[in-house]
Parts: sequence; C-alpha cells; structure tokens
Amino acid sequence: MLHNDIVKNEYMLNVYNKLNERYETQPEFLQSVYEVFQSLEPLIDNHPIYQREGVLERIVEPERIIKFKVEWIDDNNQVQINHGYRVQFNSAIGPYKGGLRFHPSVNESILKFLGFEQIFKNSLTGLSLGGGKGGSDFNPKGKSDREVMRFCQAFMTELSKHIGADTDVPAGDIGVGGREIGYLFGQYKKLRNEFTGVLTGKGLSFGGSLVRTEATGYGLCYYAEEMLNARGDSLKGKVITISGSGNVAIYANEKATQLGAKVVAMSDSNGYIYDKDGIDVSIIKEIKEVKRERIHTYLNYRPNAEYHEGWKGIWSIPVDIILPCATQNEIDEETAKKIVENGVKVIAEGSNMPTTPEAIEVFKQAGLLFAPSKAANAGGVATSGLEMSQDSIRLSWTFEETDRRLKDIMKGIYQNCVDGAEEVNRPGDLVVGANVAGFKKVADAMIAQGI
Ligand code: NDP
Repeated sequence: MLHNDIVKNEYMLNVYNKLNERYETQPEFLQSVYEVFQSLEPLIDNHPIYQREGVLERIVEPERIIKFKVEWIDDNNQVQINHGYRVQFNSAIGPYKGGLRFHPSVNESILKFLGFEQIFKNSLTGLSLGGGKGGSDFNPKGKSDREVMRFCQAFMTELSKHIGADTDVPAGDIGVGGREIGYLFGQYKKLRNEFTGVLTGKGLSFGGSLVRTEATGYGLCYYAEEMLNARGDSLKGKVITISGSGNVAIYANEKATQLGAKVVAMSDSNGYIYDKDGIDVSIIKEIKEVKRERIHTYLNYRPNAEYHEGWKGIWSIPVDIILPCATQNEIDEETAKKIVENGVKVIAEGSNMPTTPEAIEVFKQAGLLFAPSKAANAGGVATSGLEMSQDSIRLSWTFEETDRRLKDIMKGIYQNCVDGAEEVNRPGDLVVGANVAGFKKVADAMIAQGI
C-alpha cells in the first residue's frame, strides 16, 4: 500500500517511502503509520527539531521484537507448535504496555500496527506507559480449558524472560481474557518466585483491579458522551449498533444502556443478531463469558430477535450511532458509504483501527462525528495503569473510586484531542488531535533522552 500522496513534507515522505520499501509485506503496520503521518504534517512543518533529531524514523521502528516458538500438548496427546511474539515498541515515557492477542490471524504486521497505535494511546492517557503488544497465532476457540492452560504456560515460559513489572506489563486483547491472564500469571509466578504486577487484567483475588473488565467499553461510552455533550447532545435516547460480542462490545453495551441508549445489534465472526427492543446484555454475558457459545444462541432466550449469517450485514442497519468493537478494518469505503446513507451521525471506535483510511475520509466528507480508537478505547489501558498503581502500593480502590478515575481520564483524553487539533489549526478534528497530542509527549521525551 504505497500512498505517494500521503504528505507534501519531504522529510516525512522520505521516512514513509523507506518504511514502505522495508516492510512492503506488512500492510496493517503501514496503514497505521500512514494514518498517524497524515495528521502530523503541520506539526513537523512547524517544529524542525523533530527532523533534526530524526524522531520519525526512530519512532516507527520498534525498540525490540521477540519472536519465539511455543510447544504444547493437546488433549489427544499430540504436540502442537505456535508462534509467540512480543513487540516492545517504545519505552520513552514508561515501561512497555499493551495487550496480548491470541488469534489465528496474528502476525508481525498486525502486532506492529497494534504496538504503534499503543504508543500514542498510552501517551494520551496522561499515565507513564510506553507502547507494546504481543500475542500468538494460537486459536483458543474450541480448545478445552486444560489446553488453553497448557498453551498459556508454554507461552509464558518464554515470555517471562522479557517482561517484568518495571519493564513490560502485558494485558488482554482478542482471545485473551481473565482465564488466560490467570494461567499466564500463575506460570510467571512459578518461574520467577515473585508476586508482582507483571500482567494486568488479573483476577480480583490476586492483584486485579475493579473496573478493569468493564474499562474499555465503559471508557468508550464516556468518551462518546463527552464528545456529544460538547455539542449539546448525549447518548440518551440514541439507537446503537455494536459489532463484536467480546469484552469491549459487552461493556460498551452495558454502559450505553445505562446512559439511556438502546443497543439493537451485536455480532460475532459468524453473524449478527438484531433485537428491536434492545439487546439484553446479561444474556450476551451468559452466552459469551460463561458458556463460550456463538451469538446466534441469543434467539434461544429471545425468540423474537433475528439472526443473520455474516458479520458485515450489521452495518446495513439504520441507527444513530455505531460502535465498532470487533477487530481491525471492519469498515471499508463501500461500507462507510452505506453507513452514511443509512443516516448514522456518530461513530466511536472501540476496536483498534476498525476503519480504513478511505472509510474515514467518507465519514469526514459526510460530516459525521468521529472518535478515533487510539483515544476512544484508551480506557482499558488507562485502568490497567490504575491496576499497576494499586499493585505497587498494595491497595485496592473501590469500584466507584476506580470508575471515577476512569471517567476523569477519558475526559482528559478528550480534552487532549481537542487541544491537539487546535494546535495545528484543525479544530474539532479528533483524529488529528489524538495523533498530535499523543505524538508530542513521546517525541519530546525521546529528544530529552538523547539518541
Ligand atoms: P474479544 O476476543 O473479547 O472479542 C472479540 C470480538 O470480535 C468477538 O465477538 C469476535 O468474534 C469478534 N471478532 C474478532 N475477530 C473478528 C473478525 N476477523 N471478524 C469478525 N469478528 C471478529 O476481544 P476484545 O473485545 O478484547 O477486543 C476487541 C477489539 O478491541 C480489538 O480490536 C482489540 O484490539 C480492541 N481493544 C481491546 C481492549 C481490551 O481491553 N480488551 C483495549 C483496547 C482495544 P468471534 O468470537 O467469533 O471470534
């Protein structure tokens, strides 16, 4: 994906083109760099120090990528081999921090895109967190609990050599929830004989934080509410579609419903459900968190709801607001046009980079309110940061206290985006604002720390 038109600034163009040559087989990574570079041009034009200090060519290269083999035994006593990764992207403002993804699609390109995004997201939270990401092409779907446990133990046996409470603190992402974090933590503890906050998203009885499970979905709604409030509007009374039915989607539904909205559709990778009366999120929790079943079983509880094969169809439903919360590149240009035709007015991204650059352009042209993922879904990592603080001081805050802090952080992130946009004369453009504000803090720290 070579976009020669990306920017006019020669320095930026040069860095971007070299990156394209070097990583032509990493489309997702290049896409994430493209999106950030598009926003940064006025900042780079006005501050020659970033070129002088070579900040762009330095920030697009991970400090370290660890790739390893994971050997484990399945329930049939057969040897299985997967690949494991940790991308330690940038530690200028704190220890590497970012989730682990277990999904068959995982590769270096996807983890580099996620790690790159994470640098700016973590910076926006105002906490001292560097950027990282990791995972494996292991597919937890259809595996027994014991198989998942053995895989997690084998994965951590290698990963444990590279992480630590002050070095790199992984968390969950697609395919990695409370169960997996528990097994990973248990193995780390056995290997190192230490009880530290080396992972976040832990169980409440062993150093986890209240609100961490809910944080990304809740934070997404807090950000959307803040954005709407600034325009004299709110989530109350809005009809919403949420893609996905995992951690982020479930708690986005819960908070949106609490704030007076009605969520009518959700999906998994097979298809989507439509419930005109509003989806009962407690049923989704039962299906996905307890039984680990497919979303079509919702109809067993609510026979009047509809199920449609194919997850993409979810975008054809006319609603006020959409919250993509499944995976990257869920919405391409053609889908974006349909979404605009259907009268959608607001999009807030819960998943990472769910919208292609072409689709973002369609939304911009149509004047939709657009909340970019690196700001809107930062509530998860922010609450992970709060979990790290609680682990360090060996105290646990109440749900109300942690939720209040999360809400304040999301307000702060929104304000950072507004200020970032104004700084480069693009008022109201939250995509630009998020990139500018996220970049500046990290870039300035990199310069201060020398080469
Ligand atoms: P989960 O594994 O809990 O849920 C993922 C959901 O998305 C599932 O419903 C899954 O369906 C669906 N999905 C995954 N891949 C695809 C695909 N290729 N096509 C269609 N549907 C798909 O993950 P999370 O909720 O944790 O993560 C969702 C998104 O949010 C990701 O982009 C993640 O990076 C991002 N995110 C997560 C954070 C967190 O705290 N968990 C923090 C910030 C961002 P199925 O079960 O059928 O696979």
